[in-house]
Amino acid sequence: MSLYLYIHVIILISMNRLPLLFLLLFLSAYVSAQVIYNRQDSLRGAITAERAWWDLNYYHLDIAVDPDSKTIEGENTIHYKVLKEEQVMQIDLQAPLRIYKAVQYGEQLNIKQEGSVHFITLVAKQIPGDVHNIQIFYGGKPQEAMRPPWDGGITWKKDNNGLPFIASSCQGIGASIWWPCKDHMYDEVDSMLISVTIPENLMNVSNGQLRSTEINKNGTKTYNWFVNNPINNYGVNMNIGDYVHYSENFAGEKGNLKLDYYVLRYNLEKAKQQFMEVPRMLKAFEHWFGPYPFYEDGYKLVEAPYLGMEHQSSITYGNGFQNGYLGRDLSDTGWGLKFDFIIVHESGHEWFANNITYIDMADMWIHESFTNYAENLFVEYYFGKKAGSEYVLGTRKNIKNNYPIIAPYGVNASGSGDMYYKGGNMLHSIRQIINDDAKWRSILRDMNQHFYHQTVTTAQIEDFISEKAGQNLKPIFDQYLRDYRMPVLEYLKKGKILEYRWGNVIDSFNMPVKVSVGGKENWLTPTTNWQTINLNSAKGIFKVAPSFYVGTLNISGN
Ligand SMILES: [Zn+2]
Repeated sequence: MSLYLYIHVIILISMNRLPLLFLLLFLSAYVSAQVIYNRQDSLRGAITAERAWWDLNYYHLDIAVDPDSKTIEGENTIHYKVLKEEQVMQIDLQAPLRIYKAVQYGEQLNIKQEGSVHFITLVAKQIPGDVHNIQIFYGGKPQEAMRPPWDGGITWKKDNNGLPFIASSCQGIGASIWWPCKDHMYDEVDSMLISVTIPENLMNVSNGQLRSTEINKNGTKTYNWFVNNPINNYGVNMNIGDYVHYSENFAGEKGNLKLDYYVLRYNLEKAKQQFMEVPRMLKAFEHWFGPYPFYEDGYKLVEAPYLGMEHQSSITYGNGFQNGYLGRDLSDTGWGLKFDFIIVHESGHEWFANNITYIDMADMWIHESFTNYAENLFVEYYFGKKAGSEYVLGTRKNIKNNYPIIAPYGVNASGSGDMYYKGGNMLHSIRQIINDDAKWRSILRDMNQHFYHQTVTTAQIEDFISEKAGQNLKPIFDQYLRDYRMPVLEYLKKGKILEYRWGNVIDSFNMPVKVSVGGKENWLTPTTNWQTINLNSAKGIFKVAPSFYVGTLNISGN
């Protein structure tokens, strides 16, 4: 909020033009917008010294889940490589779950707990280059997810037959809501074994490939899922239910990709119809972004007791076997009902979130803006360029321009929800500037190859696109990602002369823009200084091409 607005409100109130109640509402909204971060946020969101000295190699998460008592009991064995000689290791686990003990080479280690953070002092000397492992034993009643997938935790539901239907979801809040780990996105584990023991009448589906199952003597069954690729923390998941399974093969760019579907027993026929969307989606996205990034782990679509999430190689699905977003068209153009939003959007994240992953959650736009943009590329692939463009423009009504898309770094914070629709529209605007569809597609494909299985910063993405485009796009990213305002092209027509400049922008903003005057197209390169152009005619209407996400203001008022 600007100081100017604040003073204006105070003056109106002092003039008795606004009631006091309004002042109170206003101030409380103002205070709630000013987030104050604490030490727990920093310990959670920063690459602390106790994290930086070791590199994750391998996790074996081995847990038993009891639906009756809603508890998890088990251990995580963490294999790591020493990068720097240190003795204190940070492991995260959120209450009410508890770490019972940490063991290295048979020795129980000292743990100093500070909120969700556990500082574990190692006894064995940690010499750079050495590879070690540590076992973390834990358990208890994990936090329940109240509004999954937005708040995170465990969802304990029952299916229509009264059988347990359970799932984890933890984007944002972090994987440490249900298992102990290095809960920061910068360091992805190289591979992982997920062993989940459950009542034997149920099935567990996690990430990667099902390596084996074991029947235990106590009426339980263990599912061992192996992930053969680097995976981010929030991508790891478990889904427990009375599932039935079917599969098919997809002939993709990298060969044969196995598609496995897991749905509740009574939804099999509906799934067989609706999930025909999956090969259709893969065909479109491999065209735009290159090969699906996890062939070795296969592609799974798993029914879940909430809307959906981009869990790596096991997308979760709860969209009711219907097109749209729970049957709604987010663009109001009709195109949003031509596809299953959850299958298309969450699967799009395999490229932007799971293949190319943010290091810091502040840069979440890398996941959401590109995936939002992927929705229209899907529409474009099947219904043409005009349809795709109509879809992106249609979603603009959801943009708020309330605060920046990039949040503060180092505190596990995410920015404005504008990272979806405004981010998608920013990319659509950049596509217009590049003005070469083949180049645009090759940028998207090259990006997935260049940053294959990596964690990245916004700066890396900006530099990559600028370099490939052969244009410095930094001022455009700065405006759309680091400022909250929508650029406005201010103009003034004096006879044949048009004066123009960018308003409502940062000083360096200089986005080229396609305009038309009397139906004739022209490119302008406005800055924040006034420029003029001779239109050769005083007649005709001045318009900015609608594909650019900008406003216009005729400052002469006519
Ligand atoms: Zn998303």
